[in-house]
Amino acid sequence: MSGLSRYLIRGKALPIKQTVETHPDPSETSKSSGFLKTYEPYCMVTYARPSIVFTHGKGSYLYDLENRKYLDFTAGIAVSAIGHADEEYAELLRDQGLKTIHTSNLYYNEWTGPLSKLLVERTTGSLDGGMRGAARVFVGNSGSEANEGALKFARKYAKKRYGFDTEKVEYVSFHRSFHGRTFGSLSATPTEKYQKPFGPMVPGFKYATFNDIESVNALVTEKTCAVIVEPIQGEGGVYPATYEFLASLRAKCDEVDALLIFDEIQSGLSRTGRIWGHEAITPSDSVDPSSSIVQPDMITIAKALGGGFPIGAIMVTEKVAQAITVGDHGTTFGGNPLASRLAHYVVDKITAPDFLDAIKKKSELFRAGLSQIQEKYPSVVTEIRGTGLMWGIEVKTDPTPIVDAARHRGLLVITAGTNTLRIVPPLVIKEEEILDGLAILDSSIASVHA
Ligand SMILES: *Cc1c(COP(=O)(O)O)cnc(C)c1O
Repeated sequence: MSGLSRYLIRGKALPIKQTVETHPDPSETSKSSGFLKTYEPYCMVTYARPSIVFTHGKGSYLYDLENRKYLDFTAGIAVSAIGHADEEYAELLRDQGLKTIHTSNLYYNEWTGPLSKLLVERTTGSLDGGMRGAARVFVGNSGSEANEGALKFARKYAKKRYGFDTEKVEYVSFHRSFHGRTFGSLSATPTEKYQKPFGPMVPGFKYATFNDIESVNALVTEKTCAVIVEPIQGEGGVYPATYEFLASLRAKCDEVDALLIFDEIQSGLSRTGRIWGHEAITPSDSVDPSSSIVQPDMITIAKALGGGFPIGAIMVTEKVAQAITVGDHGTTFGGNPLASRLAHYVVDKITAPDFLDAIKKKSELFRAGLSQIQEKYPSVVTEIRGTGLMWGIEVKTDPTPIVDAARHRGLLVITAGTNTLRIVPPLVIKEEEILDGLAILDSSIASVHA
């Protein structure tokens, strides 16, 4: 038993020490400011970001141009699953770079197949019971692109069954969801600030309310070809679906012959301590929860998949795969041997049973530490949501000052939705690091709300 776990078992308070500001924003005359003055004018401005420049990392830490160390509770938005600068990963990058990094999908390569096989086998072999029908994988380059493909596959599936002029072309997605920034995925993401500058959206999308089956029953009809949902909404504020909601969605989709797509881009690949986020959504009253896990027809995957190297994927059941034929969909870069080999390494590592068990332990540390923080600041923290290594801390006021205060103390956290702090660290984070980060978070809340 590790040193920290004993606190959890004995129900003692976690040892949280106060921290001070050690990482102020770089001054006007700093290296970072000079760097940004030189290059910022050439970069399109689509993000508001602090004036620090990261140069390298190791494990759960990042270093900036001022050579200051940051504990990374963001993992590049739930991406860097195996942490920064993993030695073996770097070796594979070099080795594959000296072989070939790209041959296109006009030819087979040595790695797309093994990656697809590994994803399917780890999924169908999972004791947690998710997507038992997983059969085939299409490998692309990003999350948005994975969702585009899944949405296209759903229309093709409907057209194959009901003819090319079928009216069964509608989609249902959910308020507060996030599916990406390309036109199809953006059309599935009903957040006004994302959609409004770019209208009109792709026709055929209807938006229901997450965890509200009444709203689903009103919108999912014979015209619906697919429902797309995040088992745990990430960008929207870390909101897990209820089991009853996912189960009702499945039943409604079956009733009207619509496909159910789980967007596991953020919640998937061991983030919850299970391979897939939907495996963490269990019925409360079942003896063996894994026997009743809600089953999707497709899963979209990205973020953690490449451990930082861009890659996305769509995993489908055989019945969906049978609706897609040669020429239906494609990608130039998708499934390239470099990305696929790196993803194979990452997936093999993070879906191993011991690795998943370790995440479950770290989850308990977060659960205990965050509840402790909530108890300490009841007028600031209104709710803690999440599981595994995916946590949302809802606060009463704008969370940005807390994000800044944490960064000034050497901790990177991000926000989600409008009023939530989000923690999605590398999956390899150590228990001691979690405790250090919680201490900084505690001090940061104290400093903002003194
Ligand atoms: C990040 C994210 C996406 C978009 O992925 P990109 O790689 O940025 O295109 C889609 N869905 C969910 C749930 C995400 O978290």
